Amino acid sequence: MFNKILIANRGEIALRIQRACRELGIPTVAVHSTADAEAMHVRLADESVCIGPPAARDSYLKIPAILSAATITGADAIHPGYGFLSENADFAEMVEAHGLTFIGPSAAHIRMMGDKIAAKTAMATLGVPLVPGSPGELTDLDEAMEVAAQIGYPVLIKAAAGGGGRGMKVATSAEGLEEAWRVARAEAKAAFGNDAVYMEKYLDRPRHIEMQVMADSHGNVVHFGERDCSLQRRHQKLLEEAGSPAITPEQRDALGEVVTAGLSKLGYRNAGTLEFLYQDGHFAFIEMNTRLQVEHPVTEMVCGVDLVREQIRIAAGQKLGYTQKDITFTGHAIECRITAEDPETFAASPGRVTAYHAPGGLGVRVDSALYAGYAVPPYYDSMIAKLIVHAPTRAEAIARMRRSLAEFVVVGVKTTLPLHQKILADKTFQSGDYTIHWLERFVAGK
Ligand code: ADP
Repeated sequence: MFNKILIANRGEIALRIQRACRELGIPTVAVHSTADAEAMHVRLADESVCIGPPAARDSYLKIPAILSAATITGADAIHPGYGFLSENADFAEMVEAHGLTFIGPSAAHIRMMGDKIAAKTAMATLGVPLVPGSPGELTDLDEAMEVAAQIGYPVLIKAAAGGGGRGMKVATSAEGLEEAWRVARAEAKAAFGNDAVYMEKYLDRPRHIEMQVMADSHGNVVHFGERDCSLQRRHQKLLEEAGSPAITPEQRDALGEVVTAGLSKLGYRNAGTLEFLYQDGHFAFIEMNTRLQVEHPVTEMVCGVDLVREQIRIAAGQKLGYTQKDITFTGHAIECRITAEDPETFAASPGRVTAYHAPGGLGVRVDSALYAGYAVPPYYDSMIAKLIVHAPTRAEAIARMRRSLAEFVVVGVKTTLPLHQKILADKTFQSGDYTIHWLERFVAGK
């Protein structure tokens, strides 16, 4: 096992990883920017190192600073969390080249899945069903026109290097395709420095359903079931559930079998998530994330497993020690992502939190680095808390979430707590019958 783990992240996820390390008896090193000197992840760490000024590119994304911090503190492993360097294959490689362990998959697999075209090609070979689309990168507009005519409008132009919903444009007709092609490529170039794009059929009423997998380095692969992340705004998740109200345990088992068999053939290691769109009874793969997901707690609640602990054990070379049939699913879990934003305009609302009270009680979990007196900095992601509930049924989980949201007090910054209350009180949400496009219309009051 590791002697000391450096956590290359901030906020709630840095705390989340610290908690797993502490229970395993492993000391942790926190890294932070000058803007985060007072942050909770620094206060609670065994040691901390300031790695640069506020801008993420000068601190949390600064590979030499992070590797130096690991070296001077004697850390022998690095956990990247999510975001920042978590899906940077070069970083994973450099960590290993410095004789440290990267807590995650191999650099080769990170690289493969980071290129969505390569990821889709690999999944097709492994027998995982895909969204219909171009066989690879679109070379020019003529080819885009041809593929669109074959698969039928509407179509979606997507960036090969995409992430966070950027570089994605819909075309509903041949007339609109040229603009979608141009805008998607320009956005992809600006955001990722890579304007390679591909095409997918635009699904008009899918759900977003993803599978959590875990693989050790001894050839054992299991899945921890699905998460339903259909509640999205601008292709970004707002609320997630395990399990999905739309699929049966038999569908979960069948999809899980395809996914674990595929990853086993690939020789994948550590945690990963395969994202699917689900429509008319069919799953279609869209991408794989080679890291821990923001929404991993809902899976932990229904499976009773600590996924970060599993990541650390596996990275240290340990075996899973259990098989698929040992994994059971109990009850229902919901997570609300609470951000420091205006709940109507979504304008960021950084600033000092003057009062803070977190909800509690049976089946309630709050993953947050907030405290009274903390100033939410304007430099990073606006998520300030994840509120997670677990209950025997979905209806009870909804009731528990509504009373937990009502108990949650954050004064000083605007938050999306009222928006989540509105969603949870809505009949369509309660029915469980909605698609990825529903929330956008709900937020717009339509
Ligand atoms: P990113 O990596 O930018 O998050 P994804 O490929 O994961 O991009 O897609 C993000 C979201 O965009 C999906 O969860 C879904 O809501 C929407 N989306 C992606 N592909 C399609 C598609 N073919 N049809 C309809 N919606 C899509």
